[in-house]
Amino acid sequence: MELTTLERLPLWIGGRATAPTTTRYGEVTNPATGEVIRHVPFANSQDVDAAVRAAADAFPAWRAAPPLRRARVLMRFRELLEQHKKDLARIVTQEHGKTLIDAEGSLTRGQEVVEFATGIPHLLKGEHSATVGSDVDSYSLREPLGVCVGITPFNFPAMVPMWMFPLAIACGNSFVLKPSEKDPSASIRLAELWAEAGLPAGVFNVVHGDKVAVDRLLEHPEVRAVSFVGSTPIARYVYEHGTGSGKRVQALGGAKNHMVVLPDADLDLAADAAVSAGFGSAGERCMAVSVVVAVGDAADPLLGKMRERVARLKVGPGSDPSSEMGPLVTGAHRDKVASYLESGVHEGATLAIDGRQHPIEGDPDGFWLGPSVLDNVAPQMRAYTDEIFGPVLSVVRVPTYQAAIDLVNANPYGNGTAIFTNDGGAARRFQSEVEIGMVGINVPIPVPMAYYSFGGWKSSLFGDTHVHGTEGVHFYTRGKVVTARWLDPSHGGVNLGFPTNA
Ligand code: NAD
Repeated sequence: MELTTLERLPLWIGGRATAPTTTRYGEVTNPATGEVIRHVPFANSQDVDAAVRAAADAFPAWRAAPPLRRARVLMRFRELLEQHKKDLARIVTQEHGKTLIDAEGSLTRGQEVVEFATGIPHLLKGEHSATVGSDVDSYSLREPLGVCVGITPFNFPAMVPMWMFPLAIACGNSFVLKPSEKDPSASIRLAELWAEAGLPAGVFNVVHGDKVAVDRLLEHPEVRAVSFVGSTPIARYVYEHGTGSGKRVQALGGAKNHMVVLPDADLDLAADAAVSAGFGSAGERCMAVSVVVAVGDAADPLLGKMRERVARLKVGPGSDPSSEMGPLVTGAHRDKVASYLESGVHEGATLAIDGRQHPIEGDPDGFWLGPSVLDNVAPQMRAYTDEIFGPVLSVVRVPTYQAAIDLVNANPYGNGTAIFTNDGGAARRFQSEVEIGMVGINVPIPVPMAYYSFGGWKSSLFGDTHVHGTEGVHFYTRGKVVTARWLDPSHGGVNLGFPTNA
């Protein structure tokens, strides 16, 4: 593409902003105005190799630093995040489109992972057993892997990277982040804050780019582990190629999150929850509710209550504090999301609320689509089978609890789900029967806190380990068990039998 005088984002390599060698660039737009605001480099193999080299060079000294010293750098980083939260939120809003309050909330959730990671001296403690044999002790250690990579999606340009790198770095690894090319600026600001916090040069690096950069990271012999978050087809690809070249991979994919509403539920609470979780961040959240499963006679009153709430939603620029929902990330994505309104009706659904008619208080060139509800959606319709990832909520009507749980469990995705009911027994049964990684009970977006691990089941996650929490510590370390004898010199002579403690 032809470059104008607009700002060109740098890469971040070896502790400083670095000009890339690539000549390929992409456009970063402000979704609220449709305007191109800066250019993002698409790193080539040489750029990626420079970042991995810097990370590999920084690893030995960082690995050797006592965990408490590493934790102190994280503590300073946490203070800087708190201090600069409003600036970071403005960057996220400008490039992603979400409201400032939503952007700030996501930064707080990312910061909580940093706070969890400051406990790394405790989290890395191993086990010890004295006298597993005569004069023999055994203990376990968890050691860092080396260069770890994060590849992240557009919808949380700061929070999702912060699911990964605080723990990776606290564990003693070095890190290369490849953020989304759609909203890449927050990652550079985070890199500057790391430098200010005193992180040694090369421990945290950023390369921007597309498939070319991702493919080089997946095959690079010095990369030990890859954390990926994005759509299911790319998650599967990253998992297969990363593990194929011998790396540890956790790859989180897409979602279709069902909110089951039983007839005994508090329907005002359920309507508030469905509208908040369906249309927050314009539905561009992997934990957004995308399907309301209305059981028995819950559907009509619930839909009536949702209609009242949706009509009052204010759609406008995320930078306007009175906006409740912003634009979609790109024009192409907005058009794709809107196409499900037509395909839904064509396949027999009822367009109960048409977001194309919703008043928009913003620049006409922004990527707008108001909140929509498709009613009477059936499981074979595209609006049900596809992850729409926008402000289109489907309502599926089912006669019984059993039909609801069968529907949820038959879906190939398994990220999040919720049940709304006042019946504790029904909720308890749902929690046990549902085949989904994260479950809410009267909570529509059950994102686990930083000290639990986040991840879905089935096509929502490839790999065995969820992110952050103790599973995150395990992902970014490998175990070692030492068996030591000190020394009663009576070693007992040669013995070719298998060692036992007998
Ligand atoms: P995406 O899959 O298009 O992109 C994710 C990352 O992969 C980006 O860094 C992108 O540059 C890279 N990428 C894209 N195409 C590639 C290719 N062909 N080869 C190699 N790399 C490629 O996802 P997105 O549109 O940025 O984000 C939205 C998706 O992310 C949704 O599906 C959403 O559900 C998912 N998501 C999942 C979670 C979760 O926790 N499971 C969280 C957030 C987002």
